[in-house]
Amino acid sequence: MFLKENFIGKKCLIIGGGKSGLSAAKLLNSRLKCDVIISDSKPLNTRFKTIMETEANKIINTVDFAVKSPGIGNENVVLKKLKELEIPIFSEVEVALSFSKTENIIMITGTNGKSTTTYLTWLILDNYLKKRNSKAILCGNIGKPISKEILKSKKDDWVVAEISSYQIEDSTYIKPKIAMILNITPDHIEHHGNMENYINAKFKIFSFMDRNDTLIINKDDKILNKLRNKKFKILSFSLKDKKANSYFEKGKIILKHNEKTYKLNPAKIPGEHNLQNQMAAIIAAIEAEADYKTIQNTLNLFKGLEHRIEFVREINGVTYINDSKATNVDSTLIALKALGKKKNIWLIMGGVHKNAPYTPLLSPVKKYVKKILLIGESASIIEKDLDKSQTVRCEKLENAVRYAFKNASKGDIVLLSPACASFDQFKNYEDRGRKFKKAVNML
Ligand code: ADP
Repeated sequence: MFLKENFIGKKCLIIGGGKSGLSAAKLLNSRLKCDVIISDSKPLNTRFKTIMETEANKIINTVDFAVKSPGIGNENVVLKKLKELEIPIFSEVEVALSFSKTENIIMITGTNGKSTTTYLTWLILDNYLKKRNSKAILCGNIGKPISKEILKSKKDDWVVAEISSYQIEDSTYIKPKIAMILNITPDHIEHHGNMENYINAKFKIFSFMDRNDTLIINKDDKILNKLRNKKFKILSFSLKDKKANSYFEKGKIILKHNEKTYKLNPAKIPGEHNLQNQMAAIIAAIEAEADYKTIQNTLNLFKGLEHRIEFVREINGVTYINDSKATNVDSTLIALKALGKKKNIWLIMGGVHKNAPYTPLLSPVKKYVKKILLIGESASIIEKDLDKSQTVRCEKLENAVRYAFKNASKGDIVLLSPACASFDQFKNYEDRGRKFKKAVNML
């Protein structure tokens, strides 16, 4: 457990100089007067002392404690050495949260849907708390390091943090008042070694929770459904199981809470996955005492997040949709399921191959896709896995957009959902999504 008072003026090594690492460095230096050094695999541009990972050996034995950035893998040389020397290592999350002025902390984890659910939970709570002169703080893996945001917290605020399984695993102590596990499907196994480790990493989120705390789980998930615990309250959501605290019935989201039943109109965002995300968010919000009206008003206005099945424009009856966040086959599958009604989709796919087969897409592509427009370096692998008569090589995103524009007819959908990483042609998925929108808006 990271107790601030034990580390005042101490020498700290931050492993990894990304956004979170740098924010942790600032926080520890400004608040605890720590002497901070940052190690990284590449040179950094910062006011703090930095050291290359390969040379960190020289200083490691002078360090009092270390803070691990979220992206650092267990095989990291600096990490290994610190463990050998038994120097305490903390996660950026737990260090940051030790500065929280509030105990109202919500942590959201899962394989998929974290950002959408985190954002929606935050939006509902912030709308509710604003009326009471408090606020909700959005932070974590959503691009806002907790170390940077946490000093804004006051006693009656709520912190809403997106947390990855790595960050949970790296923490010696975390105790959210409300935790959510949205789903657990095989992903990141390369980091955790095997499925069991991955599950255990996620389950560590509730190790220190007690009877005043709540865990929210997806009852439709085979692994989560088996979870039982008497130490804290468990609430659940499901698309179909009426024993869950929230479920979907006849176009409405049903929410049961403290003997009351509410019927809500869902937000206008596509897909069953987004119903699950909404159910998780509203259970958390009502547990945090938000009122039904604020929840419904927020759902009415919620449009989803950028780059996730995001509506861009309609031209001549053709709808353009940006799903650049679909960086794996599973996400593209979800987009096709969410949008597929008939054979009317022009699917723009490709980029950096992630070593998973594209064959799960065979059947939905046959049903819903007119042509696959291939971009990026994975084109030949996708051609092999899917039906070649359905693919067209476009190489570049702009070519694909123009091809679709020329050939699509009224009622069609042009969907960027690449099932691949973006780094061959773009900075990241955000860059890819923005360039898609730009190309569409120039048509
Ligand atoms: P994360 O932050 O966990 O990556 P996002 O909210 O950014 O999740 O969504 C990323 C992609 O994951 C979406 O485009 C969609 O394809 C898929 N997804 C979102 N929510 C869910 C869910 N509840 N279950 C399964 N897949 C989901």
